[in-house]
Amino acid sequence: MQQHALFDDVTLITPTAAMSPAVHGGRAKCLQRLIRLDLPVPTTVALSFDAIRGIARGRMPDVPAILSHFGPAPLLSVRPSSQDPDWGGPGAILNIGMNDERHALMRPRIGEAAATGLYLRFIQSYAVHVARLDPEPFHLPDVADAAALARMLEAYEDEADETFPQATGVQLAGVLRSMARAWEGTSARLLRQAKGAPADAGLGLVVQAMALGVGPDESGSGVIQFVEPVAGEPQITGRYLSQSQGREALAAGARAMYLTRDDRGASLQDLCPDAFAELVRMGGLIRTRLREEMQIEFTMEAERLFILDAVRVQRSNRAAVRIAVALAEDGAIPPEEAVMRIAPSALSELLHRQVDPAARRDLVVSGIAASPGAASGRIVFGSAEAQASASRGEDCILVRRETTPEDIRGMTAAKAVVTLRGGVTSHAAVIGRGLGVPCVVGASDLVIDRKRRQIVAPDGRRFAEGEIVTVDGTRGEVLAGEPPMLEAAIGGAVETLLGWADRFRDIGVRANADTPRDAQTARNFAAEGIGLCRTEHMFFDGDRIGLMREMIFAEDGDDRRAVLDRLLPLQRDDFARLFDIMAGQPVCIRLFDPPLHEFLPGDTAGLRELAEGLALPLAEVTRRVEALAEYNPMLGMRGVRLGVTVPEIYEMQARAIFEATVEASRSGAPVVPEIMIPLVSAMREVELVKGRIDAVAAAVKAETGRDFTYRLGVMVETPRACLRAGDIAAHAAFLSFGTNDLTQMTYGLSRDDAGRFMSAYVAQGVYEEDPFHLLDTEGVGELVQIGAERGRRGRPDITLSICGEHGGSRRAIEFCRDRGFDYVSCSPFRVPAARLAAAQLAIAAQRATSG
Ligand code: PEP
Ligand code: MG
Repeated sequence: MQQHALFDDVTLITPTAAMSPAVHGGRAKCLQRLIRLDLPVPTTVALSFDAIRGIARGRMPDVPAILSHFGPAPLLSVRPSSQDPDWGGPGAILNIGMNDERHALMRPRIGEAAATGLYLRFIQSYAVHVARLDPEPFHLPDVADAAALARMLEAYEDEADETFPQATGVQLAGVLRSMARAWEGTSARLLRQAKGAPADAGLGLVVQAMALGVGPDESGSGVIQFVEPVAGEPQITGRYLSQSQGREALAAGARAMYLTRDDRGASLQDLCPDAFAELVRMGGLIRTRLREEMQIEFTMEAERLFILDAVRVQRSNRAAVRIAVALAEDGAIPPEEAVMRIAPSALSELLHRQVDPAARRDLVVSGIAASPGAASGRIVFGSAEAQASASRGEDCILVRRETTPEDIRGMTAAKAVVTLRGGVTSHAAVIGRGLGVPCVVGASDLVIDRKRRQIVAPDGRRFAEGEIVTVDGTRGEVLAGEPPMLEAAIGGAVETLLGWADRFRDIGVRANADTPRDAQTARNFAAEGIGLCRTEHMFFDGDRIGLMREMIFAEDGDDRRAVLDRLLPLQRDDFARLFDIMAGQPVCIRLFDPPLHEFLPGDTAGLRELAEGLALPLAEVTRRVEALAEYNPMLGMRGVRLGVTVPEIYEMQARAIFEATVEASRSGAPVVPEIMIPLVSAMREVELVKGRIDAVAAAVKAETGRDFTYRLGVMVETPRACLRAGDIAAHAAFLSFGTNDLTQMTYGLSRDDAGRFMSAYVAQGVYEEDPFHLLDTEGVGELVQIGAERGRRGRPDITLSICGEHGGSRRAIEFCRDRGFDYVSCSPFRVPAARLAAAQLAIAAQRATSG
């Protein structure tokens, strides 16, 4: 990348010099800002990325010209200036210019020990970092005297086969060359790429006159910042150390001074009250004018204060939100800038407990990070055990090969879930995210030893039932034992930030919520309604599973209807509670979707229980369960296919929805329910179901004497539904793209089995990412696009949305926003991050158009 002709390779930093972070790096630009504020920054020269690239290839810039800015016999420091300070760079080198002559001149001025100390330190860092000599002979001696200096110079000569360079120009050239080469090294490149730097990221360097920090009167150095880094609360923190340089004060432990007055020991405020007050004034100025919380490196040279450098305060995610909001509240940045500064993923982390980043991690196994947050508990292998454990008040971790709808109660009772199979849209993952339960899926290297009731880790370690493990669903790891945790944080600054985000956002955000508990979470996170209520989860509760099984075993429609009549009040109550919690916001209820076989027991004990309950012979029950099994249940008798062939289920659900609507509308504003038909692939399916639902609506209106309206829509999750969206739209008020099934069917890739080879596929670049995790905007996206266009052509005012698991991701939100969709719907815990990402996209688009 060549720099712009406007910029020079070597630039004296002045208020008006042409300088850019993309050419000279963030540190150089920051120093220019400090200089513009008239702060006492020592003379500084910036070397551009191009200059440093040239040096690495052997093209040295005009070193005497660089030195000419610093007057005769200067002492200099060189520090890295990468484009983004987080990308790092080689460590600073101080005191360049120290030599025999300078040492002799300084001795009377700052004292023998201080002058010798400076020289010793420079020889040491030059030997190790520039000449790349073995560090062993260059340890700093306890006493900095002439003998120690002679030994150090001799050691240099022995190791380097030449005398220690005395010319400042030679020393500076050596430092510049070593830093330029270090940046080009493989390990440095890998390290910064891991932090998000592009492969061709450049390094700039700043050469600065030293403010000494050692010598007569009060001299020293320190570091100050005005917020603490964990919660981001205002607080002056840092240290000061007399007779020191650079960041030594931070490393000095108890020898360093506090900054503000402190009962525990001496402080800079007491020692030099005027300088301290000045420092605080400058800090305030830097914060407002640089529009950021900065950590400031300062030096006192004979009681004169110098500002050497300022870097962004390192901060936790929690602190980042608090800092951005405080800056906006103080008017230093506009609210939209605060919104832009927080990564949506950082916000997600705050909503869950996390393993303390400083904790030691004893890894048992890695899998797919399926539901964020962390929890510790005792290992259990079944849902019944999980419930028993919860009823004893013991935290447990449910470990299963995979989960099925039957496990829902066990999952609710467990603190976290681990499955050996499955990907990010498998049952465990979807339910885990919905419940806010941390979850790791696809941990295929783990073995469950059923006989011994143990799990076996890939390294051979065994963990028995009852032993404590920790699930880190954010990182996709299971850890041994119970590392320390950081608690979740919402409220305060997070809410303020999200309130601002909502002002800028131009696409709706709803939640996928199946239960009153989910709905409450959705409300708490300010979702604008429920975009997907998967009703089948309601049938696993309490006695309902028994009734479901009776319904499945019913001989004919009349028998089935009789059982469904007993389920009706329960469903009505479910919906009434959802309407009540959502208080007038839209609630989109998806009719029954899964294959009926999922409701039947999978083991002999369960079959026997069922036989007893139905008063049927075990053989007969077994035969009928087997008859219901399908080779490809996800492509079989499910969704609208059940609605067409076993219409009584949808009729019962429609009646429950309408009766709940009447009930809820009595006490509050009229409810307009949304009913969604799953797995549609042909217009006629919608026509048939719509006819029956309309009939139920008419019946309920007649029976209750109350009028109501409802909106019927279609879940577009088969490729054919996308292609035929034009005529489907004739019968649908809305289309909601179910990208989980649509991804499954577009790729021909099982949602539940793809985890087995997904990592190999991603590692070999077949897929950019797991398409169940990251929306495939090319293939699946093209189908969604076709569906949206044809749907709109069929019905111009049709409402469009997405409700697959992708709905909360930035990429899916961007995709939908660009195509003018009305809303996205995602699991409740992803709603805050989705609100933020949506706002960021709107702000970025607005900035792009306003230039
Ligand atoms: C989908 O298929 O995208 C969807 C949201 O439905 P489910 O995950 O319940 O199949
Ligand atoms: Mg689906």
